[in-house]
Amino acid sequence: MVAMSKAPPILKGDPAVARAADALAAGGLVGMPTETVYGLAADAASSDAVARVFAAKGRPSFNPLIAHVASMAMAAEEGVLDERAIKLGTAFWPGPLTLVVPVNPNGSSSELARAGLDTIGLRVPAHPVAQALLQAHGGPLAAPSANPSGRLSPTRAEDVAQAFGDELCLVIDGGPSEAGIESTIVAALPDQPLSILRPGAISREKLEAIAGPMSKHYGGEINAPGQLSSHYAPNAAMRLNAREAHGDEVLLGFGPDAPAGARNLSRTGDTIEAAANLYRMLREADAGVAATIAVMPIPSTGLGEAINDRLARAAAPRNGE
Ligand code: AMP
Ligand code: MG
Repeated sequence: MVAMSKAPPILKGDPAVARAADALAAGGLVGMPTETVYGLAADAASSDAVARVFAAKGRPSFNPLIAHVASMAMAAEEGVLDERAIKLGTAFWPGPLTLVVPVNPNGSSSELARAGLDTIGLRVPAHPVAQALLQAHGGPLAAPSANPSGRLSPTRAEDVAQAFGDELCLVIDGGPSEAGIESTIVAALPDQPLSILRPGAISREKLEAIAGPMSKHYGGEINAPGQLSSHYAPNAAMRLNAREAHGDEVLLGFGPDAPAGARNLSRTGDTIEAAANLYRMLREADAGVAATIAVMPIPSTGLGEAINDRLARAAAPRNGE
């Protein structure tokens, strides 16, 4: 655990938005007001910035972050919106609706922001400050609620500033969040009925009045092993806690003790750097001829716990897709 560091500045108005946009472009984190709750925003295209969001929140596993976008047009650059998604977006955006749709292969979101899924959660927030920040940034912002994992979601700038230290560049004060509860999440996926993944600020009745009956799939089990097939699982087998690679294995190293030639998640043993590299390096290792990816041990400190959780899922027996 990092020692408690100084609280970030709380700023208001256009200068705050401009400074926040600069910070985001440089890979920094910003407390962002939205009409649901305050978000911990990072450039969704940067796996480094997203890794730092997970580290700041202290989450034990990587769950997918909502990508906030400025408009339906920007949503369509990041995700594939079918007729139903467009209908819902037209009715409820900007506003507290998140749509989970297939990721657009030409989009800019990092795989870490999606926790390796080939779907993406998209929302166009209505809050004028969030809108201004998204316009200034010009791309998607990954922003989970700005609370440490397991704590209440923040509805005031002071809540955010108190909960975090100087891992945040600043918090923009946009007044108290109106809704105070999170967005409703609806999945609009090919060949599946519309499904509510999380109840939230927009009621089922309102959604169904626009798009018809929806099934219910609460409980956030998207990371459960039963749905592993929706995650990126390598074609190669995985061997964890390996000291070295044997015969037909390729080594995914960690730390200074890894052989110099091996791919290394973080030569300095930094779990934030390792998280930022995880999906890309797994994919690269998987693209070669090796039958097995041997992964060196990763300590369960910092983001190590989430990395190990992800690796254990990738190594688990495949449930024949
Ligand atoms: P929060 O940002 O803290 O309000 O929580 C984000 C939640 O959005 C996650 O825990 C997921 O339940 C959901 N979510 C975001 N992206 C996806 C996705 N691609 N597939 C399914 N659920 C998602
Ligand atoms: Mg949350």
